Amino acid sequence: MGKVIAIDGPSGAGKSSVSKAIAEKLGFQFLDTGALYRAIALHLRRKELSDDALYDETSNAIKGITIAFSNDRVFLNGKDVSDAIRTTEAGHYASIFSAKKAVRDALLSIQRDAAVNHDVVAEGRDMGTVVFPDAWKKFYLDASEEGRAKRRYDQLQGKGVEITIEEALNDVRERDLRDSKRDIAPLKKADDAICIDSTFLSLDEVVEKILSCIDE
Ligand code: C5P
Repeated sequence: MGKVIAIDGPSGAGKSSVSKAIAEKLGFQFLDTGALYRAIALHLRRKELSDDALYDETSNAIKGITIAFSNDRVFLNGKDVSDAIRTTEAGHYASIFSAKKAVRDALLSIQRDAAVNHDVVAEGRDMGTVVFPDAWKKFYLDASEEGRAKRRYDQLQGKGVEITIEEALNDVRERDLRDSKRDIAPLKKADDAICIDSTFLSLDEVVEKILSCIDE
C-alpha cells in the first residue's frame, strides 16, 4: 500500500485544484473520487435508472463498467466523458446516486486499488473516514458557503457553462446538505484530520499550508 494523503470537504472548497497541486509537488498520483461518482451517475442516467432503484438493480447496471483517467481526461467505458461529468446536472445526479449503497460498494475497491502500488492524494467526501481510515495524512478543507459558491461559479463560467451566482449557491447548498445527511459515508471531518479554512486563502497559500503540515 502506498502513502495516502486524504483531502475531504464540501463542494467548492477547492479540493481538486489543491489536491492536484500537492500531488504534482510530491510526485504522488491524484485520485479525483468525485469524477468516479459523476461518471457512474452519468452511466446510470443513460441506463434510465431511477434514483429509487433497489440494490441489485443498481449493482447490475454498474457491473462491468470501466472508468479510467488519462492526461486529465476521464473515460467511461472507453469514451471521453470529461465535459459531460462537469455540468451542474451531472453534479446533482452524482450527489443523488452516491447515496446508494450499491454505488458506494462498487467504488470502494476501485478507490482502494488506486493506492495499492502508488502514493496518492485522494480527494472526496469520505477519504479519511471510510475509504482510507489509516491514511498517512488527513485534511478537511472548508470555506464559507458564499466563498464556495463563488469558486463553483468561476469554475463553471471558465468552462463556458451559463450559470448565475444564485444557481451556484443553490448547487453547493443542496449537494452539501444531501452529502452530509445521507446514511452511508456522509461528508464529515475525520477525527484525526487537520481542518483548513480556504475562504481567505489563495490556492498557493492552501497548498503551502498543507505541505508545511506534512513536513512537520
Ligand atoms: O467532488 P465532486 O463535486 O466532483 O463530487 C460530486 C458528488 O459526488 C458529490 O456531491 C458527492 O455526492 C459525491 N461524492 C461522494 N463521495 C466522494 C466524492 C464525491 O459521495 N468521495
